[in-house]
Amino acid sequence: MWQDAPNETRREEREVARSCRLISCMTSTPDDIEAWLEGKDAPLDDKPSPVIERAARLLDELASARVTSIHLEPSGGEVRVRVRQDGVLRDRERLPRVLARPLAARFKVIARLDICERALPQEGRIELEGPKGRVACRVLTLPCGSEEVIDVFALEPPRTALALSELGLGSDTGRVAVILEGRGLVLVVGPSGSGKRTVVDAFLAHAARPERRAFSIGRGGAPPGTIALEPRPEKDLDVLSLLREAERREANVIALETLRGHDLSERAAVAALDGRLVLAGLPAANARGAIARLQDMGLEPCIIAESLALVVASRLLRRLCARCKVKAPPPYRDVLDRLGAAARTRGAWTEVFSPGGCEACAGTGYSGVVPVFEVLPIEPLLRAELVSTSDDRERALRAGAWRPLREAALEKAREGVTSLAEVARQTPAPG
Ligand SMILES: [Zn+2]
Repeated sequence: MWQDAPNETRREEREVARSCRLISCMTSTPDDIEAWLEGKDAPLDDKPSPVIERAARLLDELASARVTSIHLEPSGGEVRVRVRQDGVLRDRERLPRVLARPLAARFKVIARLDICERALPQEGRIELEGPKGRVACRVLTLPCGSEEVIDVFALEPPRTALALSELGLGSDTGRVAVILEGRGLVLVVGPSGSGKRTVVDAFLAHAARPERRAFSIGRGGAPPGTIALEPRPEKDLDVLSLLREAERREANVIALETLRGHDLSERAAVAALDGRLVLAGLPAANARGAIARLQDMGLEPCIIAESLALVVASRLLRRLCARCKVKAPPPYRDVLDRLGAAARTRGAWTEVFSPGGCEACAGTGYSGVVPVFEVLPIEPLLRAELVSTSDDRERALRAGAWRPLREAALEKAREGVTSLAEVARQTPAPG
């Protein structure tokens, strides 16, 4: 939980008092309001208005990539200001509700939206100058009673795909590289915010060699060397029809954002059977869940077995802040059992770390993220089992030489990179 230092709290109280005074003496013509919001007039003590300062401070956090989104939510007698940091939403501060309108208006002015329109949702864009370059953001407004909810999302920077060796696949890198040379369906699974895009981009960049024709469908920007196609629903051009168009143009590699529904999944599998490499995201908890998901979408087991080449599940775990992490004794055996730690790793637990909280990590105890993966290549034995009964399949999957997500995550906790709480929060229990 965010805790302001006492002198910071007093400063904020003074600011709020000052802004309330400003609001009460604010002139009321739209031009004056706009001038005030843009900071052009001279407020009471010749300092920028606190509303402008506060908005600028929040946008600073986006520009410096400390947070990836900001949310102003009028609720009860206050405006709840929340931010998403390292993938987790948390309270930043609570302000008096009287500030809801001026703050909303300030964000609307910056995003060049209509400040008088408060009854309809609006959308705009802003560009911020950060220490690591420009950060583009989307600003969304949503009417909420007589005020508005304001959401500001940092857009993903233009993508420079990671090299396969930089992804963090460890000893699986070689196996994955071989599979990406060939044909088949490659699924990258995980919930939203699990780094699926980064993984698919890296795979696509690796697979798109000059002698192969690579298409990226419905995924926004694509790595260099690939042709990016965007669906246009108003012209009846959806992902499925773009997939067919790419196939007709002798595509060797095709990347899709997400496999959804029977028709698209089956077409993608058939494209893979035809000798193409098809990369796609799939919302599933882990590799086993991905196979079940394909069956739920009505794909025949024999098509799944023949087309599927690789399933990679990914998660991003929050990295413990190196400045304030707290050393703790090794976990008790029953804790390890409950977390599903493999028996052979028990002796390896000498100490663990838990989050502290310092200025550098804004009191959260975490700073940055570390990816973990579960890599399941569909090898001949498993391929044969996939078409047999579900019991056999279960057995084959268990016998496979692959490491479940939870185990990969526990290794990061053992290395002191993340906490056991983060492992339990982010990865599915084994079994
Ligand atoms: Zn810290």
